[in-house]
Amino acid sequence: MVKQTIQIFARVKPTSRKQPQGIYSVDEDEKSVAALEIILPRDLAEGFVNNKRESYKFKFQKIFDQESKQEAIFDTIAKPVAESVLAGYNGTIFAYGQTGSGKTFTITGGAERYSDRGIIPRTLSYIFEQLQKDSRKMYTTHISYLEIYNECGYDLLDPRHEASSLEDLPKVTILEDPDQNIHLKNLSLQQATTEEEALNLLFLGDTNRMIAETPMNQASTRSHCIFTVHISSKEPGSAVVRRAKLHLVDLAGSERVAKTGVGGQLLTEAKYINLSLHYLEQVIIALAEKHRSHIPYRNSMMTNVLRDSLGGNCMTTMIATLSLEKRNIEESISTCRFAQRVALIKNEAVLNEEIDPRLTIIRLKKEIQELKDELAIVTGEQRTEELTQVELDKLEEHIRSFVEDQDPESRLEVGSDMRKIHHCFCYLKKLLNERKIPEKSESSHEIKDQDGEVPLKEEEFKKLRDLLKQRDNEINILVNMLKKEKKKVQDMFNQQNTSRGGTRQSLSASPLYVGLDDSSKASISSTSKLTQDGNSLDYRSAFQRRKTGKKEEMSLGRQEAFEIFKQDHADSITIEDNKQILRQRFSEAKALGESINEVRSKIGHLKEEINQRQMQRVALSITDNAVGDQELDPVEEKLRSKMEEEKKSYKKMFTHLKGLKVEIEHLQLLMEKAKVKLKKEFEVWWIEEAINLQKKSLPENSPRTPESWHQQQSQSHVTNESELISRKIMPSPPLPAPPPSRNQRTRFSNSSVEESDLISKKSPPPSPLPSRNSENKFNNPNMEESDLTPRNKVPSPPPPSRNQKNPPDRLYLEERVLGSPSSSIPFTGDSQTDNDILAFLKARQNLLQKKGLANS
Ligand code: ADP
Ligand code: MG
Repeated sequence: MVKQTIQIFARVKPTSRKQPQGIYSVDEDEKSVAALEIILPRDLAEGFVNNKRESYKFKFQKIFDQESKQEAIFDTIAKPVAESVLAGYNGTIFAYGQTGSGKTFTITGGAERYSDRGIIPRTLSYIFEQLQKDSRKMYTTHISYLEIYNECGYDLLDPRHEASSLEDLPKVTILEDPDQNIHLKNLSLQQATTEEEALNLLFLGDTNRMIAETPMNQASTRSHCIFTVHISSKEPGSAVVRRAKLHLVDLAGSERVAKTGVGGQLLTEAKYINLSLHYLEQVIIALAEKHRSHIPYRNSMMTNVLRDSLGGNCMTTMIATLSLEKRNIEESISTCRFAQRVALIKNEAVLNEEIDPRLTIIRLKKEIQELKDELAIVTGEQRTEELTQVELDKLEEHIRSFVEDQDPESRLEVGSDMRKIHHCFCYLKKLLNERKIPEKSESSHEIKDQDGEVPLKEEEFKKLRDLLKQRDNEINILVNMLKKEKKKVQDMFNQQNTSRGGTRQSLSASPLYVGLDDSSKASISSTSKLTQDGNSLDYRSAFQRRKTGKKEEMSLGRQEAFEIFKQDHADSITIEDNKQILRQRFSEAKALGESINEVRSKIGHLKEEINQRQMQRVALSITDNAVGDQELDPVEEKLRSKMEEEKKSYKKMFTHLKGLKVEIEHLQLLMEKAKVKLKKEFEVWWIEEAINLQKKSLPENSPRTPESWHQQQSQSHVTNESELISRKIMPSPPLPAPPPSRNQRTRFSNSSVEESDLISKKSPPPSPLPSRNSENKFNNPNMEESDLTPRNKVPSPPPPSRNQKNPPDRLYLEERVLGSPSSSIPFTGDSQTDNDILAFLKARQNLLQKKGLANS
């Protein structure tokens, strides 16, 4: 057993702007502990909380200042925990801090650079490396990824869902068994046999997490995410299995409601999140008190799930993430205070060993065989499982004469052979039964005779017939009821199938989804095969589908808009950069692969040469009859040492190539994630744009460019994405909006060279005026408005330029809106697509207007 207090570390996030000096200082001099002093700026100290202290001092195991690298964080914090997990102890690392302080960056990593990968990918890498090195034991690794939002758990690794909101993910619930062990129902455990598979799972979960997030729920700041690695190990031949869990936890933002001060629904949500952190704090306070018997774990799902990590069988580490800017001083101080309380908790981690019954059976069988062999040696006769037929016949004869013998003194002697004793009993039983049956059949015969001879009275007959009729009726009714029930069930089943795509029928019934906890003993081992064979393929294909992006086809107009959105998005630089790096790594890997092949063939040649050399020497020694073959051949020695060298370089290059492979895989996943994010943000922008265009009457509602949208997004919340500050800042003067025009002709005016240039890059080659039939279509007075309406409501035309004095007439408007007739946009004839194109063109026009590029 290892007794240990929860280890606490602090990490200070790099500040974006130059900060005034002296907000905090780190003192590493004290023995083995570090102290963080937060100094209140004078203006803040005046009105701050309840006292006028000017500085606060907090102790941590170690403080990672702004310039600390992810690698150092892993080495100091995560590696020791991973090691103890490999040894069979449970471990937990959780990050606590306000939104934007770097929790996700620390736990999962940055989305841009390979070197930014956080504790989870590095730990996975480390664990699989260690598992490979240790050939004395057999290991199995499973991964689960749980998100808790608003007291509800969601399985982020569900392979069958293309989640577009949290509610699409399977709900995870807590079950408590009579022994008060916690089980998580519906949380899938996916087997990962390699680092690559584990990473794929991490990215699948992160992508689900990102996609499920909406601006309304902002799940990333309000939910807790628990990534768990389950490792079981055993030595060959032993029945003892060790199981350990490693929880890597990204908690919700720790900010307080009072400060956020948001209204309406948001307030309740914010309070709710804080409520679960509030319960966490209560648990921690209770644990820190010496003589508390009741710890309020049950108050929230998160404390329930992390019960072992807090005051239980676990080695736990906390990372307090701090964003030490002036405006965050208050939150930083409460984060540190929380950490100080956490540091008082003492945990007792025990080795999680248990006996596997299957392995025990195998061991016992072996033991029995050994004992039998021993017995055979002692008795001198080979003991078989069954008695032979001759022995049986002899025994039965013996028993019969015993039974028949009237002498009360007679005895049945069979010796001490248990097989014979057992058979005696069996045979006696048989004899007894045989006696009974003739008696019985005699008596039943009598009854039958009686039946036949004594006819029933008429009255009795009638009574019986009535009874029979009554029973028949009853049976009919029951059959009908049964039919109805069956139909109901069938209907329900069909309904379920249609509403859920029939995928989750057996979810809760499957043992796979029960049992995160220790006591779900057999579930991991017995279902692991199932997971690997079935589900992991599922999740891979689900992820693959996402990767290839075939989820939905975009119409031409949206594609165009997406291209431009992409160009303006800050992330596109990262994607491009990563593409560049990826290309580089690819060619590096290719070159390395070629070199490896070369070295390999070199080694082959050397081997060949050595072989030949040896043959020659043998041949020589035979012909010469010399005994010189014992001597070392200098040439061969030389060849051998050369080969050793080549082997060394082969090994080196191979290790390098393996590293490259991991990096390439990681980069690909990062890019995939960035693309998904981009697409998601584009969807939001597109919808907002359409709605905005429709609200055209107010100048504030003038359409925004993708860039100004990105800016607004980044200002609205201090989240991860918020820091994607746009590259360029654009003026967006308020423009008066024109009245909407209902019918629109598809004429394009030559509004700007840039526009057509830009568009023609992507669109098909210029065609002669496409207007004819589409014009008809758009001018058709019989047409329903809905026909004109694109998917997300019809975006109204953009505002005219400022020097437009007269109310815009229709033709004018169309030309303003739609550009020149010489533009190269063809209409497709499909109203949906054409409307998309129109909407895009208008959005684009607005964009150009704001840039001042549109002709006036
Ligand atoms: P949280 O999860 O606590 O809300 P994030 O991890 O999302 O915060 O961090 C917010 C932003 O700050 C992200 O853009 C992240 O990349 C950046 N960031 C956080 N910590 C660091 C760090 N140590 N070095 C560089 N960037 C960081
Ligand atoms: Mg986060």
